Amino acid sequence: MNIIVQKFGGTSVASKELRDKAVEKVIQCIQEGNQPVVVVSAMGRKGDPYATDTLLQIGREPYSECSSRELDLMMACGETISSVVFANTIKAKGYHAAALMGFQAGIITDEKYGDADVIKVEPQNIQQLLDKGIIPVVTGFQGISENGNITTLGRGGSDTSAAVIGEALKAEVVEIYTDVDGIMTADPRLVTNAKVIEQIDYDDIYQMAEDGAKVIHPRAVEVARRGSIILKIKNTFTDAPGTIISSFEQYENKYSKYPSAGECITAIAHRNNVAQIVVQYEDTAEINEVFMNALAENDISIDMINFFIDKKIFTVEEQHLVKLESIIKSIGLKYDIHRNCSKITAIGHKMRGVPGVMARIVKALAKENIRILQTSDSHTTISCLVNSDSMEKAVNILHQEFHLA
Ligand code: ADP
Ligand code: MG
Repeated sequence: MNIIVQKFGGTSVASKELRDKAVEKVIQCIQEGNQPVVVVSAMGRKGDPYATDTLLQIGREPYSECSSRELDLMMACGETISSVVFANTIKAKGYHAAALMGFQAGIITDEKYGDADVIKVEPQNIQQLLDKGIIPVVTGFQGISENGNITTLGRGGSDTSAAVIGEALKAEVVEIYTDVDGIMTADPRLVTNAKVIEQIDYDDIYQMAEDGAKVIHPRAVEVARRGSIILKIKNTFTDAPGTIISSFEQYENKYSKYPSAGECITAIAHRNNVAQIVVQYEDTAEINEVFMNALAENDISIDMINFFIDKKIFTVEEQHLVKLESIIKSIGLKYDIHRNCSKITAIGHKMRGVPGVMARIVKALAKENIRILQTSDSHTTISCLVNSDSMEKAVNILHQEFHLA
């Protein structure tokens, strides 16, 4: 029998009605002759009683300096509750199921609380349940360190849990169930005519995820690519076929349907809450090193980096601004901050070597009077920084410019 990992996100397990829908997908999987391994996120989103954000708030209430170790233990409760409720929902339908916390499922991580990396998976417990015909319902998002501390894997970490479990069990496919019909050419919340992408290559979806398309976590894509595991993004609430994520070779061999020729852009992604920083200083090797080391020590990753002799321009996520400002001040550098920016990225592996893509982007945005604050590019992406109030318009313009609708 084929093992299929089925991960259900927060919106798919938020209420009894929704969980019933999710369980239908599990039962369907069994009826098709497969062995499902379920991975669940915490129930609901911000504001819901057992959602991750709510638990974080409760954890910090008595003591805002609460250690990250305790916060991880607290956040892990969300998935734990969800796994028990989900397992019981399966049992109510007459199937055998057992809830497993991350540590019981053998998910071993480092000890970077709040953003831990999975070191290995020891899937014996899951395998034993499968051998007995019991459906394992594993908590996403959490693991255990080698010292025995409960850890969490960061926002969107349940996708990664599903991918590493799929890899360890040599699953046929890892299905990520969510509230949209698949990966789309842009976030459907912004672009009403965004289209579902039938098949996408690991590299393109990885870039999309890195550049803000939160439909899947980039680490999950990385794991899947490493293990050549096919991922599918599907809607819990419809029968839409969803999106297949694999490599080009897998497309050709298994699905024989190569993405159509024509436009070189696959999708437009966006990321909000970005700040642009301009730091003024005359370059010396010494000061560069001091500055870069300080950023690294504080875990601040910078993006869209343009370095000149007399100034450095880059972006950071706004949540890192306070720390960043204190670093820049402590070194005594002159700086400016431009808040409320959004990074818009056009992604497509077929862009490699195609001339004029940047020119089209600049022209299309200029025509609608959208100012580009900064650009950056790689072989397969072009990003523009814009003011957040023109983000939605910019995403739609580029979506149209590259005929993605
Ligand atoms: P889950 O709780 O199931 O993990 P997420 O909220 O993490 O769900 O991801 C699903 C959401 O991702 C969708 O509701 C959609 O708004 C958003 N999204 C952003 N970009 C895209 C895209 N390119 N394709 C599909 N969904 C996207
Ligand atoms: Mg998610």
